[in-house]
Amino acid sequence: MELSPVCTEGISSSGCCKPDRSLRRSRIPKDVELDIESLYRSVPQLAKVFHIIDKIGEGTFSSVYLGEAQMRDGRREMFALKHLIPTSHPTRIAAELQCLTVAGGRENVMGVTYCFRKEDHVVIVMPYMEHKPIVDIIGSLSFEEVRLYIYHLLKALRHIHQFGIIHRDIKPNNFLYNRSSRMYALVDFGLAQGTADTRIELLKVDLTGLRKVPRPVFGERNLNSCAPAPSTTTKQAAVKTELVKPTKTEDPATRRFSAASRQQGPLPVRTQSSLQKPQKSVQQGLTCNCHQTDRVCNICMSRKQQVAPRAGTPGFRAPEVLTKCPNQGTAIDVWSAGVILLSLLSGRYPFFKAGDDLIALTQIMTIRGSRETTQAAKAFGKSVVCSRELPPQDLRALCETLRGRRPSPDDEITPLPEASTDAASTRRLKIQDDTPTHRSSQRVQHKDVRAPQKQRERSGSADTACLSRQSSQTDSTVEEDDERGWDSVPDEAYDLLDRLLDLNPATRITAAQALQHPLFRGL
Ligand code: ADP
Ligand code: MG
Ligand code: ZN
Repeated sequence: MELSPVCTEGISSSGCCKPDRSLRRSRIPKDVELDIESLYRSVPQLAKVFHIIDKIGEGTFSSVYLGEAQMRDGRREMFALKHLIPTSHPTRIAAELQCLTVAGGRENVMGVTYCFRKEDHVVIVMPYMEHKPIVDIIGSLSFEEVRLYIYHLLKALRHIHQFGIIHRDIKPNNFLYNRSSRMYALVDFGLAQGTADTRIELLKVDLTGLRKVPRPVFGERNLNSCAPAPSTTTKQAAVKTELVKPTKTEDPATRRFSAASRQQGPLPVRTQSSLQKPQKSVQQGLTCNCHQTDRVCNICMSRKQQVAPRAGTPGFRAPEVLTKCPNQGTAIDVWSAGVILLSLLSGRYPFFKAGDDLIALTQIMTIRGSRETTQAAKAFGKSVVCSRELPPQDLRALCETLRGRRPSPDDEITPLPEASTDAASTRRLKIQDDTPTHRSSQRVQHKDVRAPQKQRERSGSADTACLSRQSSQTDSTVEEDDERGWDSVPDEAYDLLDRLLDLNPATRITAAQALQHPLFRGL
């Protein structure tokens, strides 16, 4: 695969910055220093252009460095150098680059300046944007800043969605915000996928599972082999065979532009029949006897999990992602934007903190209601069974309580289930395909969501989502809050929040529609 330079304009290729390298280095930790040296060794061309000053980001799939370059006109400019882990799949890397080159550089989407490669080491060079982590500033943001932040995030989303890009990892760490210059930039297309009609050629490839990191193996057995196939499900079973194509043995790059993969699209399940209304009377005795109950029968225990894209961070995942709905679109990014708005309005970050998808789904239920969640899941073909009913919360009351502007009687707001699981507890949540031959079922046990709040506050566990007083909210008084506009949050803010956090992706507001929302009047 060829990763060609994107643009060389402006960067001097003559060596630079050697004089003060050692001087600056003395201020950075030893391990970072070693990482920088190792990067220079892996990609020697970098040294001709950049003086690498520091490491500014480290994730599962990349390390990001701050580099300084001498420009042709003599100015020195800062760049972010994203060194991808050498095991990244070439097609995945190329797709990330293509998103940046085709859609980036405008509308609050990060652009790309250059790309270096030596053997399997790839470094993406981007303009550096100074920013602070959201945790550091969430306690001091004014309502107006929050309004602008969400507006600019939605602008970035509208833009990439127009290109048929689903980002799949929308969260504050990937939306850089420079408070003083009021600049915003969406970064990290490392998990992006294309819609059926995407304009990004490389996103037409099925990128599911291309990241070579340890991941659960979905089993060698074909999904269809275990279940009887009554006539109504034969079609579906056939479609599912395509879904579980052995990605491990096949090189997707070789079938990049094959007619078949293009026709099928990157989210192969568009044609899946799980959206058809199930006939309850037929389905019950047909394959198993636990459907729509809170038990999991032996037949279902032995089923393989459904394969569906599931990238992202649990707390920001949309319900259709958490339930492994195979038909996922740009609406999943909109949900994540809703979680960010919920976080900013309530002053709590992260808002949802869950170790696994079922806990994340239960946390969503405590805010949006269990019956509402179950109903929405049904609309996208999943049967969710929750053993206790959780009422939906009033969003304004919730946010104001969490901001400390309202008293929080024990029963007014249901604490979220904790990230840790506890075998002694008995609450149960179950997800299945809402079809006669549902194939994915799981069971999880975790702490009762109704754990007494007093006890939770006393324990002060940093692992507790949402209601633990862990943000900087405690530092600021209600009076300071008032000055920042938190005493007069308009209803429009909670109305938009309600629409972004629509449990049903089919009716969820789009980024383009959200920009027209009355909350943004005058922008
Ligand atoms: P990963 O896939 O490892 O999450 P990202 O592209 O999200 O990689 O980058 C990781 C972090 O590096 C970001 O959260 C951000 O803090 C920093 N970063 C990335 N790109 C830039 C940039 N252009 N300017 C400044 N910082 C950046
Ligand atoms: Mg990231
Ligand atoms: Zn069953």
